[in-house]
Amino acid sequence: MRHLISGAAGFIGSHLCDRLIQEGHEVVALDNFITGSLENVAHLKGHARFRLEECNVAAGFSAAGVFDQVWHLASLASPKHYLAHPIETLETGSTATRNMLEVARRDGARFLVTSTSECYGDPLEHPQVETYWGNVNPVGLRSCYDESKRYAEAMTMAYSRAHGVRTNIARIFNTYGPRMALDDGRVVPAFLDQALRGQPLTVFGDGSQTRSFCYVSDMVDGLMRLSRSEERLPVNLGNPLELTILEFAQRISRLAGRELKVTHEPLPSDDPRKRQPDISKARRLLGWEPKVNLEDGLRETIAYFKALAEGSGRHKSPALSSPR
Ligand code: UDP
Repeated sequence: MRHLISGAAGFIGSHLCDRLIQEGHEVVALDNFITGSLENVAHLKGHARFRLEECNVAAGFSAAGVFDQVWHLASLASPKHYLAHPIETLETGSTATRNMLEVARRDGARFLVTSTSECYGDPLEHPQVETYWGNVNPVGLRSCYDESKRYAEAMTMAYSRAHGVRTNIARIFNTYGPRMALDDGRVVPAFLDQALRGQPLTVFGDGSQTRSFCYVSDMVDGLMRLSRSEERLPVNLGNPLELTILEFAQRISRLAGRELKVTHEPLPSDDPRKRQPDISKARRLLGWEPKVNLEDGLRETIAYFKALAEGSGRHKSPALSSPR
């Protein structure tokens, strides 16, 4: 099959490219590198079935030839990035979604958009089930991300209903793994970077807010399964293991094999208090659930960051243990 992927040089996008190439597909990869990195797909350069095009999918782009599957993964997914680029974030969720849907309509292709657990906002129901409509501040600092993803879902449903495009909506919960950018501000790279440097872990607020972390290979597996399903309504993909951020800091400390200090910084505005996916629907419809436990996933991620650091000479005396 011929696949078109936006955000292909991003963290999840690049792993999806790997998987599709491994399975024998042809991939046209789009990225404007606002947060994606050429290095994430450098190993695919020159592959006969892989082509990378630098372009902004919110503006015009060619998408020449006929595609069987269109994936819209482009997104500024880290709070640090979307707070710094709110208008680009809104455009990527809105105009870019429509542009990618138009390619799917043109070619009669299947379409999958990666939405987010942020659609639930600061949820009043716990854990979050797909039928919960959410509690989103429409004008807060995070609204550029949350509302554009909600729009992306609405536009995707509209193309499904009005044009009969075969669509899927994945609501992705916190995901981590190799190829996250160390400085992208999210809690996993932030804590691992701090641990590698032997610095205190910066816990925002009192650390009682919760998150659930899914390893990237599990996420890509969920996306692949969803893309083959007939389900048009949103499906949660994430790991149901819920931890407070303080507990998460303790897990990092344990992996480091020593007590890492914690410092507290102010809680960002509209930071959701709780987040845990209910994945019953994905289990039932896709036969999917995460397989990689947190310790193993973190070890792989640490190994990646350590290798990067050794390449750049950044972390001279790594404090964390290598994977088994
Ligand atoms: N967080 C933290 N320290 C950091 C970065 C994040 O305590 O250095 C917290 C953040 O306030 C949030 C959680 O960790 O409650 C997850 O944040 P992240 O930016 O990874 O993603 P989010 O789930 O908020 O989109």
